[in-house]
Amino acid sequence: MSEIRKHYFLPEYCIIAEERGKRPSDFADEAGDMGQKGQRSGPENCAFCGGAEEKTPPAGAVYKEGRIFADTKEKIVRKWDFRCFQNLFPALSPIPAFSELSGVGEDASPGFGFHEVIVESPVHGKKLSDFSAAELSDLMQVYRDRVCHYRAHESIRYVSLFKNSGEAAGASLDHAHSQLLALPLLPPLLKTELQAIGKEEKCPYCALLEKEKKSTRFIRENRECVAFTPYCSKSPFEVWVLPKKHVSYLGDCSKEILSGLGEMIGYVLNSYGKVLGNPAYNYMFYQLFDSPEYHLNLRFLPRISLIAGFEMNTGIYINTISPERAASYLRGDRPLDE
Ligand SMILES: [Zn+2]
Ligand SMILES: [Zn+2]
Repeated sequence: MSEIRKHYFLPEYCIIAEERGKRPSDFADEAGDMGQKGQRSGPENCAFCGGAEEKTPPAGAVYKEGRIFADTKEKIVRKWDFRCFQNLFPALSPIPAFSELSGVGEDASPGFGFHEVIVESPVHGKKLSDFSAAELSDLMQVYRDRVCHYRAHESIRYVSLFKNSGEAAGASLDHAHSQLLALPLLPPLLKTELQAIGKEEKCPYCALLEKEKKSTRFIRENRECVAFTPYCSKSPFEVWVLPKKHVSYLGDCSKEILSGLGEMIGYVLNSYGKVLGNPAYNYMFYQLFDSPEYHLNLRFLPRISLIAGFEMNTGIYINTISPERAASYLRGDRPLDE
């Protein structure tokens, strides 16, 4: 590994993170052996498997039988249920060096932040779609706990919590995991959204929830949440899940809401499996902890279509399946060959 340790934000909120250590030849290698790396397919050399704890940075939070532990110099916690540690190749650094900014530009700022990996199971090959309702609920509680942990840091303004599954979704390892980036700033996307929400009398998400419950884009609801395909789906089979109660971040969620969210994750991923054959996918939590007017939402994007030149050139997305039709497949009331 080289000595490069560059982390900084540029004004349009691009993060430069050369520590992730890519050279042009690395990109060429990746393109050349798609899907053929041992690490991608089997437990051999997998750093996320139970028993391979030494291969990752020490875990700051280890969940085991309903209790929370942490690795110490003397003792590594084994036989865990969920394990959280700093990414070995972080996009942000808790201690960025100010000297890195020399010669970058006046509007750059230090790339302060945290980049955590949340390993969802010690078992290699276990997928979230195989999780029981209780396991999904436990995972949601881990999410809530980790978001609250970073929220308590005085410099953190936003916690990005997401899952990449499959190579097409940006996952570099097959072993089930989510990621969390804690940022010292509000991302532009959320900033714009907050400004728009500020102009409304009523929470637009609460209004959307009522509308979509009765629309042809409705997929299903449980006691706590509603799932639907959004009217402006950027790509086929995009799904949004909203808690029925107005909550602005995971820290506001009761155990019941967390279980409801977990149950919906299980349903959506199982539906993707049936309808699309286990595609690569991303899901992302949109949440704000200092803005009670915001309404937490969870968005799923299966990676079955490519964002290409037109989309990048215009910001307009071509979607070949209407959200209404996608919802009917995901509800299971339309034959898959129709
Ligand atoms: Zn593994
Ligand atoms: Zn609301």
